[in-house]
Amino acid sequence: VDDAVLDDMERFEQSFKNISQRYRLINRIGEGTFSTVYKAEDLLHEHYQNDWDPEADKENVDRNTSAIKLASSRPQRAKFVAIKKIYVTSSPLRILNELELLHDLRDAPNVCPLITAFRHQDQVIAILPYFQHKDFREYYRDFTVPAMRIYFHSLFTALKSVHECQIVHRDIKPTNFLYSPAQQRGVLVDFGLAEREGTDYHHCACCSEPSDRNRKIRSSVYASTIAAAEAAGQPLPRPSYPNNDQRSSRRANRAGTRGFRAPEVLLKCTAQTVLIDVWSCGIILLTFLSKRFPFFHSADDIDAFIELCCIFGKKRMKEVALLHGQVMQTNLPTISENGHGWEKILLWCTGRNKKGAGGEGGLTMEEQEAVDFMRCCLELDPARRITTEEALMHSFLTGVDG
Ligand code: ADP
Ligand code: MG
Repeated sequence: VDDAVLDDMERFEQSFKNISQRYRLINRIGEGTFSTVYKAEDLLHEHYQNDWDPEADKENVDRNTSAIKLASSRPQRAKFVAIKKIYVTSSPLRILNELELLHDLRDAPNVCPLITAFRHQDQVIAILPYFQHKDFREYYRDFTVPAMRIYFHSLFTALKSVHECQIVHRDIKPTNFLYSPAQQRGVLVDFGLAEREGTDYHHCACCSEPSDRNRKIRSSVYASTIAAAEAAGQPLPRPSYPNNDQRSSRRANRAGTRGFRAPEVLLKCTAQTVLIDVWSCGIILLTFLSKRFPFFHSADDIDAFIELCCIFGKKRMKEVALLHGQVMQTNLPTISENGHGWEKILLWCTGRNKKGAGGEGGLTMEEQEAVDFMRCCLELDPARRITTEEALMHSFLTGVDG
């Protein structure tokens, strides 16, 4: 443990009343946008393991003015814990949201359970069992398809129970799914951006019947100009960026990590569902199959959208934009009409050539099955995307022991 980390841990111990009576800090294991995470030993572990008495525990907690009691049944204890120190700059509502959702998910398989949480002044810490795992960058290049099946079975098992509770995780990515290749098990963490499905729901064109959609799309500036020109028998105006666009700008939750955002998030769909998480899982699978991480590397949402256009092609991306009531225009010469097939992309990424020497090459049978599953996750239209329940019944995941 280097000096800077030691200093940081010492400052934390001094600032958080009585923390060192309960936990011995071992190391700093994570530093994210919203928190710092430490590995620690629970000094009362033996006590809770052997003679845990709920009444005494209640008393303990009450005496400690800083405790927030969440566990209602015998709390899950662990000798080693992860202490997640949520930055004080996070809004109290955001912190409460994270703890509440974790509490709701306490029985969900493969979701890292919340043991308890404490507050001292403005600082809140969440205590989770420490989960031994390996850094994604150390193994994604070496994963075989059978190893991927086990990984995704574990991930989709977690996500299925999250979605059953009508919770959208919103930030599915490798650093939030702690995986141990040795144990062949993973746990989902970080509900900092998660929300209940339907929060801020507003109608979006994608919720309408297909016949209704065209009518809704007519309300866009360009579409209505076209309609007017058509009606008057005039030549169609060339589309241009509207300078005095009177429409109110669209607002939608865009929380998440670039490169993992579903097309409907990029298009500011106001009726996003749990299926945005399934898209992100598809991106993780794409990372394994292409052996490229990060696969998408955009600076912003427009860039991210263009990256998708390069693969899916102009035609399909225009359709998905229209689905959410947006009109897409582009004059970028690199974006082709029909995009590129996954097989070609993956062979290229992995340095194989379909027309290789001796007629060899092409994806293996098991890779093709993985690609088939990935295609179901990376379905542009959320209404046609595979659900977590369906995913677990897909041939890619069936036969994997949970
Ligand atoms: P943030 O909101 O800052 O991203 P996370 O909950 O994702 O916070 O935690 C940040 C990092 O800390 C994780 O990517 C992981 O490396 C580590 N971490 C979090 N929880 C645990 C845990 N229960 N066991 C082991 N490591 C953990
Ligand atoms: Mg995280």
